[in-house]
Amino acid sequence: MRIVVKLGTSTLTHATGKLNIRRVELLCKVMSDLKNAGHQLVLVSSGAIAMGVGKMNLTEKPSDIPSKQALAAVGQCELMYIYDKLFSEYHHTVAQILLTGADVEDPRRRENFHNTIFRLLEMGALPVINENDTVATSEIAVGDNDTLGAIAAVNAQADLLVLMSDIEGLYTADPRKDPAAQLITEVRELTPDILALADGAGSELGTGGMVTKLRAAGICMAAGCDMIITNGQRPGDLYRIAEGEAVGTRFFGKKTGGTAQ
Ligand code: GLU
Repeated sequence: MRIVVKLGTSTLTHATGKLNIRRVELLCKVMSDLKNAGHQLVLVSSGAIAMGVGKMNLTEKPSDIPSKQALAAVGQCELMYIYDKLFSEYHHTVAQILLTGADVEDPRRRENFHNTIFRLLEMGALPVINENDTVATSEIAVGDNDTLGAIAAVNAQADLLVLMSDIEGLYTADPRKDPAAQLITEVRELTPDILALADGAGSELGTGGMVTKLRAAGICMAAGCDMIITNGQRPGDLYRIAEGEAVGTRFFGKKTGGTAQ
């Protein structure tokens, strides 16, 4: 299987913005093992701004764009350093890809992206994608890494996108507010009722929320790619997902022509 794994800021860092070492080590170990088992993996990683906040010893994420861009530049190096270090322990090679929305909208740039990512996968490398935050001002930005994950999954012709977040999946109500909220395990169509379940809430250090996750689901489903939302607190769930077990909420990609997957 070709799997795109998107790690959100809340999965990668503690509330302080510093790296959650235990979790990231485990995630890299499991992903390395899945590669060893023959799966192809692409990682879409957030956390650049948060890591920059931690590295520069700031107490909170600044709100102005130039500061966020500067911190992303600091934090992206730190992120890649950590991935390089951890994946190298298991003899896997990481490759950094920084994209903006404009890159995938322009046919020539999109083709370059395709050429690079397919060649990296052929070589057995592990592409690690993030938004190019230095230049991604609002007109050209994808804006959030859930959507970037969906764009990466569709362009890499992945079988599955896994969004690892700080929530188990899509619920019938916000589980942080309503104890009766129930996990929805399967979504086959983004009906108005499903779309109405997103309330836009996200954690403090990241960008996304359920709105961006459902937008990502729409992009994946239309292109025939499945998507799972699950909690990044349990890296081992990636094994279960690769074995086809039901984990979190699964959005089924539209299948055309009846080819079994
Ligand atoms: N590109 C941002 C970062 O790496 C994250 C955007 C997001 O999490 O949606 O900090």
